[in-house]
Amino acid sequence: MKLNKNFRNLQDSYLFATIANRLSDYLAAHPDAPVIKLGIGDVTLPLPQVCVQAMEEASREMGVKETFKGYGDYPGYPFLREAVRGYYRSYGVELKANDVFISDGAKNDVANILDLFAQDNTVLVPDPVYPVYVDTNVMAGRKVVYISGNAENGFTPSPDPSIDADIIYICSPNNPTGAVYTKEGLKEWVDYANERQALILFDAAYEAFIEDPAYPHSIYEVEGARTCAIEICSLSKTAGFTGTRCGYTIIPEELERDGESLNQLWLRRQSTKHNGVSYIIQRGAAAVFTPEGLAQCKENIAYYKENTRMLAKVLDEKGIFYTGGKNSPYVWLKAPGGKKSWEFFDLLLNDLNIVGTPGSGFGENGEGYFRLTGFGSREQTEIAVERLRKLL
Ligand code: PLP
Repeated sequence: MKLNKNFRNLQDSYLFATIANRLSDYLAAHPDAPVIKLGIGDVTLPLPQVCVQAMEEASREMGVKETFKGYGDYPGYPFLREAVRGYYRSYGVELKANDVFISDGAKNDVANILDLFAQDNTVLVPDPVYPVYVDTNVMAGRKVVYISGNAENGFTPSPDPSIDADIIYICSPNNPTGAVYTKEGLKEWVDYANERQALILFDAAYEAFIEDPAYPHSIYEVEGARTCAIEICSLSKTAGFTGTRCGYTIIPEELERDGESLNQLWLRRQSTKHNGVSYIIQRGAAAVFTPEGLAQCKENIAYYKENTRMLAKVLDEKGIFYTGGKNSPYVWLKAPGGKKSWEFFDLLLNDLNIVGTPGSGFGENGEGYFRLTGFGSREQTEIAVERLRKLL
C-alpha cells in the first residue's frame, strides 16, 4: 500500500491556526479585552426565511409516501436547474438546460472538477488567491505557475503570453482581494484560453456582491467564454448556505477539449461518484431564486456590504491603498508604514483589539497586505471603525 506522495508537497496551512493561537495567547494575558473579529470569512446572518420554509415543506414531503423522494437526478432536480437558468437570464446570460449541474458547494466542485484533467497539465493561479486552487492541484501532482496580482494591476492581472498554461483559475470578485474583473479584463483571458485551447475555471462565489453594472456576474457575459470556461458558483455567500451546502457548476454543452465534451465527461464523473444534493436542500436553494428569496438575500448582502463600505471609508480618509470594499465583502489593504502582514496583525490585535487576516497567508504577493471583512455585526464593525479612525 502506497500513499499519494504529492500530499508531502503541500505547504502546511498555518494561517488560521496561527491567528487562533495568537488571539488565545493575547486573551490569556488580557482576559477582558474587547476583541472584534474582522477576519471572518463565513456568513453570520441566518438563512432567508423563505429558504427555511421551503426546506420545512420539503421535509414534510419526505415523510409522506406519495411525495417521498429517493435518489435524485445526478445533475440536480430540474426545478433548481431551471431556477439557476432563470437567475442567469436576469443578467442577460442564456444557458442551455443541460449546462447546469447542482453541487454541494463551490469548494467541493473546484476540487472535484480536477478529476477530468490529466496530471501533466500546467495550472496557472493568480497570487494572492483562495488557497484551495493550489492545494488541490498539488495533491494531484500538477505543476502550478503563478501570475502576479499587485497594486499596479489592481490585483486583476492580465494574461502573460509568455506563460503557457492549460488550466487557469480566475476568481472574481476575488477572495482575498475583493478585486473584480471588468468584461474587458475577462475578455483578455477568454481570448488567451481560446487561442491556446486552455481552460478557465471561473469561481463566481461572490458574484451576488456585485452592484456596479460595469462588472460581469458571470464569465459567460463575455463573448467566447462558452468554448473555454467552466463556472463554479455557490449559494454560501449569496444566501448564507455555508452550513447548508448548495452551489452550481456551469459546463456549456459545446465546451470540448481533446475532442470530448466536458459536459458529458462531468455527467459521467458525477453519476459515478456523486448521488446528488439532498431534495430538501435543493428546495431551499430554489427558494433563493424566487422574487421573495432574492429580495431577502439582497437585504443580507446589503448589510455585509454596508459594513465593508464603512471599513473602506476609513481607509479613504487615511489615504491607505486598498482593493475591494465595494462589490465584495472584503477589503484588502496595504499595511501602513510598509509593515509586513503579521506585524500589522500584531499591531491591530495589541493596540486596537481587532483581528484580521494577514495577506501573506494567501500567497507571496499578499505580503504587506491585510484582509478585513464585512461579515461581522454592524455594532462591532462600527466600534472597529472608530478604533481604526483613531489609530491609523
Ligand atoms: N470559492 C471561494 C473564492 C471562496 O472564498 C469560498 C469560501 O470562502 C468558496 C469558494 C467555498 O464555497 P462553498 O461554501 O460553496 O464551498
